[in-house]
Amino acid sequence: MKYIILLILTVTFLISCKSNQEKKKEQGPQEQRPSSAQLISEMDSNKDGKLSKTEVQGPIANDFANIDINNDGFLTLEELIKVEKNQQNRPPRQSNENKDLSNQINTEAKVVPVNTDYFISENIIGGIQKQTIELNGVETLCYVIKTNSQATEHQMGPWCPRHIEDGMEKAGIWFRDGEVYDVSGHFIANLDEFYSDDKWKLYREDGTIKVTDTEEGCLAAAKPEVEEQYNNYCVECLPEYFKDQVTTFVIPVTPTYLNSTQNFGRGGIGIAFNGVNFDPPAPVHAILAAHTIAPLDDHGGHVNPHGGYHYHAATGSTKEIVQTNSHSPMIGYAIDGFGIFALLDKKGNKPNDLDECGGHFDDTRGYHYHAGQPGENQVIKCLHGLPGYTEIKE
Ligand SMILES: [Zn+2]
Ligand SMILES: [Zn+2]
Repeated sequence: MKYIILLILTVTFLISCKSNQEKKKEQGPQEQRPSSAQLISEMDSNKDGKLSKTEVQGPIANDFANIDINNDGFLTLEELIKVEKNQQNRPPRQSNENKDLSNQINTEAKVVPVNTDYFISENIIGGIQKQTIELNGVETLCYVIKTNSQATEHQMGPWCPRHIEDGMEKAGIWFRDGEVYDVSGHFIANLDEFYSDDKWKLYREDGTIKVTDTEEGCLAAAKPEVEEQYNNYCVECLPEYFKDQVTTFVIPVTPTYLNSTQNFGRGGIGIAFNGVNFDPPAPVHAILAAHTIAPLDDHGGHVNPHGGYHYHAATGSTKEIVQTNSHSPMIGYAIDGFGIFALLDKKGNKPNDLDECGGHFDDTRGYHYHAGQPGENQVIKCLHGLPGYTEIKE
């Protein structure tokens, strides 16, 4: 499976890189990937409509046994489509993937190495490994951290209320224009007013709320092109659907400060000490366009099929590393290895010198980020370091 994923990802990088320059879209064009039908027509030398082991080459040959789901010795169109579908549902990787950043390195900047003791070790699969990996043209010693992205210090959920009379304790939060709103039954019933759009109606005549309460519903609704029958739904996926998914975080052991800032794609932008992803902003436009909302729980997290449980906001629910002076506590690491800290210091003040990414320097912590306010829909705004990356295995 690893090889075909690599093959398809490589093609995707080439395509999405080009498209990111042309149009800054969150979703790369997916129709340009080699289709399963194309793969068969290219390799099927005896024209029997399926691929035998002798017909295939390269990554598909290496991965034959995994793709051949029924173990009959042939790869059928259906089996290849299954692999292809898995790929298409996957958000594209970081947009800066094959940029060479070696000329952007700033060696003067004060940086502090990652401290792996801060992570909750029970949440890490197989311990934290070290590996030298090329990141944007720079050979970098990295930590490789594998997790199931499940929170352990707090309950995950609830997200959607079930009835328009449910109180806000039965559901999570939603945000608009930097403000956080408690999602209650009343909130759901009044979405038409909230968004000044009378097409909103997430509830039935008996007051029950339309919730994606099966894994099938979650898969159909928790993606940018929401399937028609799930328009006007409260979208909720449960962590247990994806509890066996493994997210791998590749983070530099010692971060490298760059002279330029980097955007992130749809991959993870960091990790909380419990091993849960900090994700880039939720694609609110796509969500709202289908008249759906995908509430976060009170801890700023929700679940999607590609990464499981993840945070879009830091709400103080996860493990924190208290600082000795009045500085705010540390809450995790960004994917470039710089620390992420809570926004407010012990006196309740916000730093006033944050750069465009939400970071600044101090003598103790070197360069580091401060998380945005929960309603902002972004934990950090960009990366100032050489980016690592995340990888998700379903
Ligand atoms: Zn999300
Ligand atoms: Zn600070």
